Amino acid sequence: MSLAKIISCLDGYDPEALHVAKAREAMRACIAPVPDTESVPVRSALGRVLAQEIVPTLNVPAHDNSAMDGYAVRFADLDRPLREIGTALAGKPFAGALGAGECARIMTGAVMPAGADTVVIQEIVKKDGGRIVVPPGQKRARNVRYAGEDLKVGIPVLTSGKLLRPAELGLIASLGIGEVRVRRRLRVAFFSTGDELASIGTKLKEGEVYDSNRYTLHGMLSRLGVEIVDLGVVRDDPKALEDAFRKAALADAVITTGGVSVGEADFVKQLMAKLGEVLFWKIAMRPGRPMAFGKVGGAYLFGLPGNPVAVMVTFYQFVRDALLHLSGRTGDTALPLLRAVCAETIRKVPGRTEYQRGVLYGEKDEWRVRTTGQQGSGVLRSMSEANCFIVLEHERGNVAAGEPVSVQLFEGLA
Ligand code: AMP
Ligand code: MG
Repeated sequence: MSLAKIISCLDGYDPEALHVAKAREAMRACIAPVPDTESVPVRSALGRVLAQEIVPTLNVPAHDNSAMDGYAVRFADLDRPLREIGTALAGKPFAGALGAGECARIMTGAVMPAGADTVVIQEIVKKDGGRIVVPPGQKRARNVRYAGEDLKVGIPVLTSGKLLRPAELGLIASLGIGEVRVRRRLRVAFFSTGDELASIGTKLKEGEVYDSNRYTLHGMLSRLGVEIVDLGVVRDDPKALEDAFRKAALADAVITTGGVSVGEADFVKQLMAKLGEVLFWKIAMRPGRPMAFGKVGGAYLFGLPGNPVAVMVTFYQFVRDALLHLSGRTGDTALPLLRAVCAETIRKVPGRTEYQRGVLYGEKDEWRVRTTGQQGSGVLRSMSEANCFIVLEHERGNVAAGEPVSVQLFEGLA
């Protein structure tokens, strides 16, 4: 089905004044996750997307065991001195069973001896002759970890679409599983467009700027864990652009920067439209108003604006989410918004979402945020000095000092 057709079903879709949330929704509606999977050793699965359900075939822990070093006892017997009849160590169970008035020394992780129902920690126990005396006030079943209290046989613990983080690697390993099925890694191609762009290693001519967008993109994409294909700087020239698009079309996604802004007399827009199905949007946001989204060959296309801050903002607000969806991730992909007190006045007009660059800091038991000063979309320093976005919602007007605002931390963004 054509993208235009899919998107026409969305309520309130207006390409000339698209809300941020609507643009994100439109991309998701159009993107089908890559279906291919592969099997990898658990360690190599870090950062990958799980493509199977993990259902335990054993309980974790496998046996009732002690959570502390102490004595395994029968709770009902605690009113009398106990006779110590053996020791249970982690990995070396006590073979016998506790009878009336008996206890066993036990270490953390050791299997609970038959007959025992409680562990009393060693620090409170007194020895009286050969006997063990436990003070009153104990609780039944204290300090016992039950079989299956972490993972239970037959109850699914991880589902397809889950990002595999260090905790998941450990959890999978705790089930004795050595290999897991994950989605194929995405291949993402990108290039910069613009006649004014110079590559590092060449001398700047008058009117030129060094291409920085490919470097921020390299960083952001690397953190997402995708395979990257850097196609360099491409001149605003139809032939060069067409060649670049043909190469890029072999990837799962292609990201371009520059050439989509309104006044641009360049060929990027025409070419995008010629080579595939591409939608041109004016998004109600700042920075990052013009954007193109569509398909070129088999690749989803993200045509980002050229300004360096706009590239980063549109990447984090749209491309990140779209690529996670394309990679098969489900569920936990939204970025949390925190509340902080704004330390300064910010001018803002209702009718667009703004992403100011901010510094979140703690003061007087609360989180406060200030901007990083000059917020022009070409001022990349505003990103470098920041640790968060201050998200000023669509309907919001001016912000007075002392008002709460929403904040999106950079840490964890990718
Ligand atoms: P454009 O969207 O192509 O009109 O570019 C907007 C602004 O961003 C212009 O000032 C460009 O010089 C600048 N720009 C575009 N691409 C890059 C790039 N790859 N690196 C640094 N600046 C860029
Ligand atoms: Mg340009």
